[in-house]
Amino acid sequence: MKIWFKNANIFNDNKIVKGDVVVFNDEIVFVGEDAETNFFKVNRDSIKETTLINSIVDRVIDVKGNILMSGFVNAHAHTPSTILRGMADDMSLHDWLDKIIPLEKSLTDEDIYYSTLLGLAEYAKAGITCVEENYSRLHSVVKAYKDSGLRARISIGFPDVNVDKSEFSLNEELKFVNENGYDAVCYAHSLYGTSLNNFDKLNTFAKINNLFVSTHISETLKEVGDCSVEFGLTPVEQLEYLGFFDRPATVYHCVHADKDDISLLADYNVNVVTCPSSNLKLASGIAPIFALQNAGINIAIGTDGAYSNNSYDMFKEMFLVATLNKAILYNGEIIKAHEVLNMATKNGAKALGLENKVGQIKVGLQADLILIDTNGIHNQPKNNLISNLVYSTKSSDVYLTMVKGKIIYEDGQLFFNKTLDEIIQKCEQIRKRLLTQT
Ligand SMILES: [Zn+2]
Repeated sequence: MKIWFKNANIFNDNKIVKGDVVVFNDEIVFVGEDAETNFFKVNRDSIKETTLINSIVDRVIDVKGNILMSGFVNAHAHTPSTILRGMADDMSLHDWLDKIIPLEKSLTDEDIYYSTLLGLAEYAKAGITCVEENYSRLHSVVKAYKDSGLRARISIGFPDVNVDKSEFSLNEELKFVNENGYDAVCYAHSLYGTSLNNFDKLNTFAKINNLFVSTHISETLKEVGDCSVEFGLTPVEQLEYLGFFDRPATVYHCVHADKDDISLLADYNVNVVTCPSSNLKLASGIAPIFALQNAGINIAIGTDGAYSNNSYDMFKEMFLVATLNKAILYNGEIIKAHEVLNMATKNGAKALGLENKVGQIKVGLQADLILIDTNGIHNQPKNNLISNLVYSTKSSDVYLTMVKGKIIYEDGQLFFNKTLDEIIQKCEQIRKRLLTQT
């Protein structure tokens, strides 16, 4: 498809500029003022009449001054958990894990497929175009991603707590993920859920195959306390000791990273993904985003799973990232709205090693973008569009979501290989079955 977005307010590089964006197939080929003069006429000398321009694009979308920006990068998620939304609420993390793990084990491959699709539909509707997917059950998960069209970096390795795996399995997983067109990340659940032997296996595998590594880290005080009792080190120090940071690394949460942990993470250039809703609801705490930011660490944002969050809404997460540290540090001047928008887009792309593909609206990057309707009453008046995006806009304001140049959601309509009705009906059947098992 060749699509010309006209008259947009384009968010990029901390600011909003007016202009057009042209997408040919999966790539952004023009960003700037007046594509008619500066792109189509320049590139098609033979075209003298402007009306002929319409014949070389499949569709012209007049954005009418609404926002066009990179799709959100959800840098930490367990999407197949969507079916468990609301089944383990009002608990602290370690009690919650005790409740969730048996429930997860009862899910069939078909359950996982539909549960993942349900989550992906929620992402598409909320403007999330790219996901760090941290789950097992690869075949069902990848099938769901393929049927949705969303982009993902898919975990291989040790997503399940206390499950062993051979090097052969890791090779097979990597082959499967790559053959299906996805990037892979070597993921260990956590220091408390993954054996030291498996961390070692994963590090070696990541090095041989030139992959990123990732894990949950310093999510709760209990985790930090247990780690210091067992190893005499904080979780961050223990990961360094294990050689985990010798590879490019992405770590999730870092709620209880202290001053020394933060300088260690900065020394190794580790990417940190913050998931504020999940941390608040599971009573884990508030991540030191301002201190991490001051140390020069790349910070991205994730939703975590619907079983802990319970929604996939980057607008909610952005609001929390922008405000929580202001409140606990009694400083309203820190963590600006444009910085948070970058965390949700280009920093997320960097955390997933995809900064050369997505995260901004730039010529040569992949066409993963969203159109946001700014006409809602909650966005009036439009004194500051960037401020509105972080503090006022709702995920329901997303009008169109495009991944790799393909529109996967527009004006209430989902364009997956399955209809939303089919997905919801199937998930309702699964929910009823699960209730009889609990
Ligand atoms: Zn998680």
